[in-house]
Amino acid sequence: MKNSPVTPVIAYIGLGSNLAEPVAQITSARTAIAAIAGLQELAFSSLYHSLPMGPQDQPDYVNAVMGVATELLPMDFLRCLQSIENDQGRVRIGERWGARTLDLDVLIYGDQIIDLPDLVVPHRGVDERSFVLYPLFEIAPQLVVPGKGAIADLIAKCPLSGLRRMN
Ligand code: ATP
Ligand code: CA
Ligand code: CA
Ligand code: CA
Repeated sequence: MKNSPVTPVIAYIGLGSNLAEPVAQITSARTAIAAIAGLQELAFSSLYHSLPMGPQDQPDYVNAVMGVATELLPMDFLRCLQSIENDQGRVRIGERWGARTLDLDVLIYGDQIIDLPDLVVPHRGVDERSFVLYPLFEIAPQLVVPGKGAIADLIAKCPLSGLRRMN
């Protein structure tokens, strides 16, 4: 039996890639995230194919959402995800929303609303991006997004915008 007094928080991570074999990037990110100490995987959505936001002169994306139980504090959680992005060759230059091997966003962290310089949770895009909402709905149809409402209501207002389920 575990004797840690910390109660795990249920969090959701948005995964995206549009460079260097996106499906393989997402699959290895899933394995790396699950391997973080103090975190375990609870759910993983299907893979989705989506059209790029922002600059259009870049490849289409592969996206997924992962549900985890974690004992990490929010900033530690973000730093772990950023080190996985770096390990998978993420280069932090170029224009906003430009092409990348791996993007890991903290979508939701329990029922917390966080507004720090480096971490805003729920993630700003969570209620308007189809490639976040549809995979999230697939694994957590009863979810209430803190400050934003029931996912079923959010999804009813969110067009697919070219999103396709891959598997
Ligand atoms: P978007 O955040 O609109 O999806 P992006 O993922 O392309 O855009 P990045 O360049 O990956 O943006 O991240 C920019 C910064 O966003 C990071 O340095 C990080 O500190 C900050 N950030 C704020 N809130 C979050 C969050 N919930 N998850 C991940 N990063 C966040
Ligand atoms: Ca683990
Ligand atoms: Ca993002
Ligand atoms: Ca990001």
